[in-house]
Amino acid sequence: MTIRAAVMTQPDAPLEIWDIDEPVLEDGGVLLETIASEVCGTDVHLHHGRLAGVPYPIIPGHVSVGRVLEARGMDRDAFGAKVGPGDVVTFYDVHEVCNSCYFCTVARQPNRCPSRRVYGITYSAHDGPLGGWAEQIYLKPGVRIVKLPDGLDADDVIGGGCGLFTGFAAVERSDLAMGDTVVVQGSGPVGLAAAAFAALRGAGLVITIGAPKARLELARQLGADVVLSLEDRPLAERADVIGEATHGRGADVIIEASGNPDAIGEGFSLLRDGGTYVIAGHYTDAGPTTFNPHVDVNRKHADVRGQWGTDFRHLVRSLRLLAKYRDRLPFARVIGGRYGLGQAERALEDVAALRVTKAIIDPNIEY
Ligand SMILES: [Zn+2]
Ligand SMILES: [Zn+2]
Repeated sequence: MTIRAAVMTQPDAPLEIWDIDEPVLEDGGVLLETIASEVCGTDVHLHHGRLAGVPYPIIPGHVSVGRVLEARGMDRDAFGAKVGPGDVVTFYDVHEVCNSCYFCTVARQPNRCPSRRVYGITYSAHDGPLGGWAEQIYLKPGVRIVKLPDGLDADDVIGGGCGLFTGFAAVERSDLAMGDTVVVQGSGPVGLAAAAFAALRGAGLVITIGAPKARLELARQLGADVVLSLEDRPLAERADVIGEATHGRGADVIIEASGNPDAIGEGFSLLRDGGTYVIAGHYTDAGPTTFNPHVDVNRKHADVRGQWGTDFRHLVRSLRLLAKYRDRLPFARVIGGRYGLGQAERALEDVAALRVTKAIIDPNIEY
């Protein structure tokens, strides 16, 4: 038996459909039948070779939902819930964190562990179906599997995708206090999730700056009180709105989720003295920018924090909230298109052109 998979053979090359061998399950390994996998901005960057250390050819798709086909010597998820054939699960895409390096043990920042591997990004297609754009996904021993909470289905999870967990992580990283005024820069999946979780955490006011209009409408549905369109609100006008809302002080918290270097200068200018600025949108290198260390950071007494990827707790906690507040967090609405494996190229184009906010790959769609 072979498994169909969409493969990025190298940067800027057309995607290919490969038939790869069904994996031999190791003890503790689990084989999933893919229900859905996401297409996100990172996949677009992978397609253009903008992430270092990627072992092309790869099967993309880092956040996925699947049905257990077979589990060898493994019958519990990461929390001890019974899991077996037929159960619908998702999993933490980061794997092989070593728990023994300086970052894992002393700094307690496993997201910077050098052994860290990521499904859909840092595994070669020659290593097996280790990405979600395939009919089946092989979960190696030790991959943290979570049974979907009751009431959630694949669309709820994939509609948010990795942005759901990253947005959650950025809000946690900001330590935002109840009542704070929060500005979210960017209205892609990370920005949408950041606005949603900031609102849920009790922000007094959530302002999203972004484009296009359809994404801002989603931001509003998910929790933004005010949305400012980059298309028809010039920089000075955006500053005025935030100035008025804060009596000239600026926002308590800014979360950058735009991936645009130009957003950084604006972010600093909108931040109040002593405020916190979380930069979460530059997972890939979009180039440098300038800021004034005296005005923007030192004199401002700014607290500037980066958020690199996510930890397992972000996945677990955000899924719990998604299950509890399903009506307030309708991430399934973010899905703008469904694509079969043979349409993965088009999915990437549609995401890159902002025609859809979240695209999903469903290998059951025949193309
Ligand atoms: Zn480590
Ligand atoms: Zn992603």
